[in-house]
Amino acid sequence: MEGGCLCGAVRFSLASAPFDAGWCHCRICQLNSGSPAMVFAAVLVGDYRFEQGEDRVATIKSSDFGHRAFCRDCGTPLYMRVDYEPETLDFSVATLDRPEAVVPQFHIFYASRIGWAEPADRLSRHPRSRPGHGGPA
Ligand SMILES: [Zn+2]
Ligand SMILES: [Zn+2]
Repeated sequence: MEGGCLCGAVRFSLASAPFDAGWCHCRICQLNSGSPAMVFAAVLVGDYRFEQGEDRVATIKSSDFGHRAFCRDCGTPLYMRVDYEPETLDFSVATLDRPEAVVPQFHIFYASRIGWAEPADRLSRHPRSRPGHGGPA
């Protein structure tokens, strides 16, 4: 699988199949995307490979436990990493060239969902992170 940012400066490929795809409705995702929620999927850190434009990638510390990477030219959110899951990163599924291929399986941080953003699906809804997946209490 391959993907990239809005302006085309950054291109990446995945060396293994992503997993744990899901919607996140947390406040940080809302602010980072300017949207009610983001869809992330996990991949092993070494399997997310920049093919082009790695020097255009900037990171911000987005919480006490994590940071987010984005294209410094166009602002596209690329991935996030959290200290409590060091082996994986969570990338923005919409940045794939074919995002239909990675289907979200759950909703997390549903407690901070924006009220008018009502998903029309039957996926599990977790008030905060999924049980057994660490993260803020
Ligand atoms: Zn860009
Ligand atoms: Zn989030």
